[in-house]
Amino acid sequence: MSRPVDVFLEFLAAEQVRGVRHVHLDEGARLGLRELHERTRAGARTAAVELVSLAAEPASVRVVELTAPPADTSRAEQLAALRRQAEQWPAARALGTLRETLVFATGNPDAQVMFIGEAPGYQEEKEGQPFVGPAGQKLDVILKTMSLSREQVYLSHIVKFRPATPNQTTNSRPPSAEEMAVCLPFIRGEIRIVKPQLIVALGETAAAGLLGITGTMEKLRGCWHDFEGTPVRVTYPPSYLLQTSGSSQIKRLFWEDMLSVMEQLGLPISEKQRAFFLPKP
Ligand code: URA
Repeated sequence: MSRPVDVFLEFLAAEQVRGVRHVHLDEGARLGLRELHERTRAGARTAAVELVSLAAEPASVRVVELTAPPADTSRAEQLAALRRQAEQWPAARALGTLRETLVFATGNPDAQVMFIGEAPGYQEEKEGQPFVGPAGQKLDVILKTMSLSREQVYLSHIVKFRPATPNQTTNSRPPSAEEMAVCLPFIRGEIRIVKPQLIVALGETAAAGLLGITGTMEKLRGCWHDFEGTPVRVTYPPSYLLQTSGSSQIKRLFWEDMLSVMEQLGLPISEKQRAFFLPKP
C-alpha cells in the first residue's frame, strides 16, 4: 500500500500537470513537507517531485517539471531519458485509469514533422509501438502518398498508455482530459527535443490535449494553430478515414491538409498529387 506521503506527492504531480503552481497547506502538512524537503536535500530521491523554497515561501510548494534530459547529448539520448521517466510516471499511475504498458514514440529524432495521435490502442499496446494497428497501416499509406516514410517522421501520442475499459479485450476508448493532462509533459518534452518544423494533430481529441482547444473538425482543420511556437495542423485521424473510406469528400479534405503540410515543409508536389481525390470532371 502507498504511504500517505507518496499519495500526496502523486496528488501534487497531478496538480502540476494541470497547471497548478501553488497549494495552500495547513501547519501539519507544512511540517511534514519541511521534513521531506530536508530529506530530499540530504539526497533522498522522490519519484517525480521536488519541493523548493519552503523556507522562503512557507505556504507554497512548487512541483518541478520533468527532469530535463542533458542538452549536450543527442536527441535520441534525450528522448530515451524522457522515455525512462515515462515508464514510472507516478501521476499516470495515480489515476488508475490507464493500463501499464508504455507506448512512447517511434521515428526520427531529427524529423521535420511530428504526427501526434490521442493514445495507443490494442495493437499498439501489444507491440509497444505507436500506429501499428489498422489506423497505423493507413498512416503508412498516407505517408507514402506524401513521398514520406515512417523513418523520416516522428510518431507519438498525447497519452503514453492505453486507456483502460472494463473487461477490456481489443476495444479502446478516447483518453479523458485528465489522462491527457497527466501525460502532457512528455509530448511537450518530445517537441522541445525533436524541434519539428511542424506538427500534425490527428483528431479532435489529440487537438484538445495538445492545444487546449475544442470544436468540431470542421472548425479545427484547414488552418495553422500554434504550440509553443511550432505550427500545428489539425486533421482527421487515420481511424476516421478508415471508417469513412467511401467518402471522397473527407479524403479530399484530409488530403488538402496534407498538401498544406507538404507545402510548409517545402516538399515537391506533383500535379498528380495536387489532384488526388478531386471530383472527376
Ligand atoms: N492508433 C494509434 O496508434 N494512435 C491513435 O491515436 C489511434 C490509433
